[in-house]
Amino acid sequence: MKFDVLTLFPQMFESVLGDSIIGRARSNGIIEMNFIDIRDFSTNKHRKVDDYPYSGGGGMLMNVQPVYDAYMSVAKNLDYKPLTIYMSPQGSVFNQKTAIKLSNEKHIILLCGHYEGIDQRVIDEIVDMELSIGDFVLTGGEIPAMAIIDTVTRLIPGVLSAETSYENESHYNGLLEYPQYTRPYEWHGKKIPDVLISGHHANIEKWKHEQSLLNTLKKRPDLLKNIDLSSDDLEFINKNK
Ligand code: SAM
Repeated sequence: MKFDVLTLFPQMFESVLGDSIIGRARSNGIIEMNFIDIRDFSTNKHRKVDDYPYSGGGGMLMNVQPVYDAYMSVAKNLDYKPLTIYMSPQGSVFNQKTAIKLSNEKHIILLCGHYEGIDQRVIDEIVDMELSIGDFVLTGGEIPAMAIIDTVTRLIPGVLSAETSYENESHYNGLLEYPQYTRPYEWHGKKIPDVLISGHHANIEKWKHEQSLLNTLKKRPDLLKNIDLSSDDLEFINKNK
């Protein structure tokens, strides 16, 4: 899978996406990422990429020309259109379901706005979807793009080690994950739940599922409305409300 990021600040990305799990996935060739500097495509002699909005008000808007030329530098010789996503507080809010869908794409272009955003005409011309990372406004699309790349990349087969399964993690099946413990067995007088060292696989699985239900009920009860719960689950939840 390949990500091409169109940004005015390509240098921001390597420190976040160059190390650890994502860095390894890149050096193993599972994933390719390019960070393309929109400013390199400015035809202005001062490399200017923004101008005042016609509507007035404060701030500057990114011009169509450098954004379009940066996009074409990636897309022009391809026999398909890469899925092109504009990072925007106006987009639908990114979540794990969207991440799973995106992990099946072969090539994604992420367009990062800055300042007051981007001239609407180039958005209309090249963008397939807008994604937000939440109902708040950041200074630029770079942090949202990093969040999306990180989330999608770890879902690609071979990126996480074989024993790390994202299917048990929060939001995969609509629930939050159960609490987890590691050594020591006892700390500050607190022992880990005995079932976890019982060796009884079925009881451990039952405990994990019930703890997931409890965690979700306690921290994000709104999520429970979006999933089909079994009658046993519903009974368990009602008992623990
Ligand atoms: N004037 C725009 C508006 O009100 O919709 C906001 C522009 S924002 C200051 C600058 C850039 O940051 C946007 O073009 C977008 O790329 C990015 N951005 C800001 N908040 C975001 C969010 N919640 N999710 C994704 N991208 C965001």
